[in-house]
Amino acid sequence: MPFLIDAHLDLALNALEWNRDLSRPVAQIREAERGMSDKIDRGRGTVSLPELRRGGVGLVVATQIARFNERPNQFPGAGFNSPAQAWAMTQAQRAWYEAMVDLGEMTQITDLASLENHLTFWQDETSLVEKKPVGYVLSLEGADSLIDLSYLEKAYGYGLRAIGPAHYGPGRYAPGTGLSGPLTPAGRELLREMDRLGMILDVTHLTDEGFDEALVLFHGPVWASHHNCRALVPHQRQLSDEQILRLAERGAVLGGCLDAWMLAPGFTQRKSTPADFGVTLATLIDHFDHICQLTGNARHVAIGSDLDGTFGTEQSPSDLDTIADLQNLNGLLKNRGYSPEDVAGIFSGNWLRFLRKAWD
Ligand SMILES: [Zn+2]
Repeated sequence: MPFLIDAHLDLALNALEWNRDLSRPVAQIREAERGMSDKIDRGRGTVSLPELRRGGVGLVVATQIARFNERPNQFPGAGFNSPAQAWAMTQAQRAWYEAMVDLGEMTQITDLASLENHLTFWQDETSLVEKKPVGYVLSLEGADSLIDLSYLEKAYGYGLRAIGPAHYGPGRYAPGTGLSGPLTPAGRELLREMDRLGMILDVTHLTDEGFDEALVLFHGPVWASHHNCRALVPHQRQLSDEQILRLAERGAVLGGCLDAWMLAPGFTQRKSTPADFGVTLATLIDHFDHICQLTGNARHVAIGSDLDGTFGTEQSPSDLDTIADLQNLNGLLKNRGYSPEDVAGIFSGNWLRFLRKAWD
């Protein structure tokens, strides 16, 4: 089974805010949620650590995620009422990842040596895949929780390696999806500090203005961890052709996202079903095709599924039951004419090339 890397999973969010024990099989997690209705995706989760192993997903980029909400009356439930509370949530999430490491479920990847060791261990066929820890690179989705920039160095110290300054709505460092406008002064300072520390910039969720500014101000490695094409599904959350070309010029890799509304035009969250819109794993390959045609090669596409990023099977490709089904992309890509080398790049080679260069 080919090794697979998924560059965007909100594992700790699921563990702590959805109260999911991700060390269990998905079937057990669904069973434990039977009859619950506090969240739309109850009983429909697709991700857990045994399921990642079953799908050969041996390395993930795993998030810390917590927003600050300055106007709780205007945006109810959109985040914590102070940056300190958001920081505390990210620290709880970090503690969960570290508990998974202690239990042998996960292992943290922070540099070239830990990356190469992990790959060697994962490819060793004499040890059982069920016993292998899932590797994770720690990323921060939305930077609101960094109380001030002194917290960035602290976070680097515990292994934070990538940051997407923006998320949804207003942000202390950058406005996010659904808004327009430039980075904040603190956001510009954040990029300078990330450069100094050699961190990766995730452009996902930036506004168009923020994207432009970030690419000029930031000189380090850039990726788009979970992003599809605006040309196929028009929305500001998606990348325009011009943005895709600029990212490719920077050596970026773009993680294809499996959130159904980002795959098929007209899909409405909480109303449409993936089956009605014909959303399958093959739909993601339409987005890959578009990027490959634009850039002239398959070196910039890979996977950043965002599965269980606050949605479940009700908003994922209809032929995906759990994240282990990502392996079916192998046959689907070959059927579309992708060479074995291109498929290997999409499964892991492109992210690995990126990380090796970023951390060299
Ligand atoms: Zn996201």
